[in-house]
Amino acid sequence: MALTEEVNRVAALFEYGPEDLNKGVKEYIRQMNEGLEKQGTMLSQIPTYVTNVPNGTEKGTYLAVDLGGTNFRVCSIVLHGNHTFSLQQSKVAVPRTLMEAKKATDLFSFLAKQIEAFLKEHHSEHFEAHQQKGLGSKEFFDLGFTFSFPVNQIGINKGKLMRWTKGFDIDEAIGQDVCGLLQVEIDALNLPVRVAALVNDTVGTLMARSYTSPGTTKTLIGAIFGTGTNGAYVEKLDKVTKMKDIAAAEGEASYDRSTGLMVINSEWGSFDNALNVLPNTPYDVDLDKESVNPGIQMFEKRVSGMFLGEILRRALLALYQNDEEVALFKDTSSADNDTSSTTTVANDSALYKQWGIDTSFLSIVEEDHSDHLRITKQTLELQLGVSAPSTEDCVAVKTLVHAIGKRAARLSAVALAGVVIGTDKLKESDEPVDIGVDGSLVEYYPGFEDYIREAFREIEGIGADEKRIRIGLAKDGSGLGAALIALVAANKA
Ligand code: ADP
Repeated sequence: MALTEEVNRVAALFEYGPEDLNKGVKEYIRQMNEGLEKQGTMLSQIPTYVTNVPNGTEKGTYLAVDLGGTNFRVCSIVLHGNHTFSLQQSKVAVPRTLMEAKKATDLFSFLAKQIEAFLKEHHSEHFEAHQQKGLGSKEFFDLGFTFSFPVNQIGINKGKLMRWTKGFDIDEAIGQDVCGLLQVEIDALNLPVRVAALVNDTVGTLMARSYTSPGTTKTLIGAIFGTGTNGAYVEKLDKVTKMKDIAAAEGEASYDRSTGLMVINSEWGSFDNALNVLPNTPYDVDLDKESVNPGIQMFEKRVSGMFLGEILRRALLALYQNDEEVALFKDTSSADNDTSSTTTVANDSALYKQWGIDTSFLSIVEEDHSDHLRITKQTLELQLGVSAPSTEDCVAVKTLVHAIGKRAARLSAVALAGVVIGTDKLKESDEPVDIGVDGSLVEYYPGFEDYIREAFREIEGIGADEKRIRIGLAKDGSGLGAALIALVAANKA
């Protein structure tokens, strides 16, 4: 079989047509609603206790801190009330010894000291005034705490640490409320700071976009397409019927019920782990089997930056190791080869290594419109150790890249459309429906948004209304998003 035919056959496995799309959306909405009704479902649909989103007119100064791994960041954000803001920040590495400290206090007092140092440097008047005469609680800074470890959130500023990851190991902290631990240390230093909210990064994206987006339309969805994928959206509180089960298990949380809204962290990376509707090529099957968490995060494994390179690697390797006489990277005639030399694949090529291909490789190839795909040729040599690939090889690689990238975008459209349709947002008013996105995949993969939009037009319930859906980048929402969650938590929205 000619290479082109074989490549087209493999590329066709990644096709995700209009019928698949519509089935996917229907199933998404089903799982979305199931997740609002009960706990322990495929889509976790976690209530965040954030009960409003900003519209860009909010004002004030808020603090945000972020403990995500090796660094601890402190920042203050001044909201100007016109969709713009200014930000000051500091960053410090968390000493190894504190990551494995005996007592939780050791780590959290270190964090509080960084907040103190930040206030002394950037808000000295406020700091001094409190130290000297004690400010009223109205003048305290509200702080949003981004804590990127698994927590069981049971209130807007309350969440129990489930386990440590990323090299942290402080036994004593497990099961404790991390906001409480931080507040105790802040109070010990007599700082005018209140830990107002525990923050999830996807919710931060939603909030940041809602504040910065044009007009006063509030954003519906915040979505991340980076290393992983996840989304948060604004749901009607009365649809979150599992709130009563959560209250029964964890105690009644205090949150503002007056807005009738609840931001939901969908954890959509695990949409359809049961594979009711997700496509499943042999490459998806093998990738999952050899991953650290087989059967889990099945949507994410077809969509996000961490996995697309690996799907491509598996497809390329299968074509290369194909028994057929005409196969990938096997050109000997070199009729169309600039260098007229035989194509070879280095023994230590990234093609042989799990995770050997980064998703940025797909972006480079998708973007390549040069003569004879010269850029793809260079990139294959440089990144995969394939010397003198033929133009036919490059076309084959590009065909597969395109198929994998486009499928990822169309699957992304399933989750986004599921939320848009499931919340009835297009029908509620004539206003645009706003979506904030963040992450290298959506930012850099050429045409990712266009493929999402094309899919929207094919989805029943959106169709021509695709034009009313606005998608905007919410870049680096972490500091701003956390500050805005603190604002909403303090009931100032
Ligand atoms: P994170 O999600 O970890 O905060 P990013 O949004 O930068 O960070 O996402 C990183 C992921 O994006 C990695 O999996 C990487 O392979 C992928 N990536 C990086 N650059 C690009 C690019 N130019 N095109 C597509 N994907 C990219």
